Amino acid sequence: MLRNLDLIDSFEGRQVLIRCDLNVPISNSEIQDSGRIVAAYKTIDEVIAKNGRPVICSHLGRPDGVDANYSLKPVFEFMKSKYPDLEFADSAPATGALTLIENLRFNESETSKNDSDREQFAKDLLGEITDVVIDGFGVVHRKQASVYEVAKFADVYAGRTVEKELEVLKKLTENPERPYTLILGGSKVSDKLGVIDALLPKVDRMLIGGGMMFTFLKAMGHEVGSSLLEEDQIETAAEYIQRAKQLGVEILLPVDVVVAEKFDREASHQTVSADQFNSSRFGETGMGLDIGPETGRVFADAISSSKTVFWNGPMGVFEFDNFAAGTKIVAKALSEMDGFSVVGGGDSASAVRHFGFQDNAFGHISTGGGASLEYLEGKKLPGLEALND
Ligand code: AMP
Repeated sequence: MLRNLDLIDSFEGRQVLIRCDLNVPISNSEIQDSGRIVAAYKTIDEVIAKNGRPVICSHLGRPDGVDANYSLKPVFEFMKSKYPDLEFADSAPATGALTLIENLRFNESETSKNDSDREQFAKDLLGEITDVVIDGFGVVHRKQASVYEVAKFADVYAGRTVEKELEVLKKLTENPERPYTLILGGSKVSDKLGVIDALLPKVDRMLIGGGMMFTFLKAMGHEVGSSLLEEDQIETAAEYIQRAKQLGVEILLPVDVVVAEKFDREASHQTVSADQFNSSRFGETGMGLDIGPETGRVFADAISSSKTVFWNGPMGVFEFDNFAAGTKIVAKALSEMDGFSVVGGGDSASAVRHFGFQDNAFGHISTGGGASLEYLEGKKLPGLEALND
């Protein structure tokens, strides 16, 4: 049983450490995607409603010690519009004020390899606090002080974000409605091996796009010019194609691709058939940066006729408008499908928001990329251990 906030009627005025995942993309002090912050409000509000005094904490990026570029200050400014009384501090305040603590990773002990360093930091972070709510699903796969060691010195509860993520992931692994389609994209096959291994026997179809499609196309014997390619994974890709056949899982690979002259926002480009890659005017130097429109149609049809879809990883370099169409068509099909659609992973989540889709157009947008994948792979997640009775 998950130790969730239903176990608490009242925190009786105590300070409560809430470990959120406020690790949002920030550029020039501007938050690019506030999804994770807004997702945290539900738990923060509930702690306040249950007479707790939240001390909110999170990491941001991977700073090497204290670095102003990784300050949570922009997140604090954003949250002020929701919580005007919010204060910003380096540690839990003696006053008990509603507080956001500065980036946990400014202290190296948060992520130290040394257990006793992490334990000491967890103790320092807690001070007098004895209640912790773990609400940052994106970090539960890490053995870090604020996620794992805190549970040794305080009572821990799962926040509503973590609870929701777990519900969704269970739905994807236990009795999903069929047809069940897995869509994978993003840059690397090697990042997705575990999830393919775990989900291939469970799904009816697997759609492959993004940079990783070229390793699969190469495994099919096609040329891929100078596209992203993981030479050492070609054999693995071929094995997956074989295994899918044995399992009766349909693998859909792109039938056409958008080839660019170079990796550049404004690069000239041409759509070619996936088995004629070098026929583009860029020859062998061309780089495939998106799935083509015909593939988009095929993928959209496969999505529309599914009852469950899990999507992880963009179909192309969606950050460049010229190469965003494939990701957009997949996002649109997911938003319109009649069934349960899950967008997983930071990049796919920011892609759908970048295109202007509302979060509620999907069954669920996951806040934790790596953690969701590790859960689906059946790995034990350290941050969840203490949350289960
Ligand atoms: P990942 O972090 O593995 O989920 O990959 C996400 C990144 O993959 C995004 O930043 C995309 O721009 C990038 N990407 C997607 N398709 C391609 C491609 N065909 N070539 C290079 N990068 C790609």
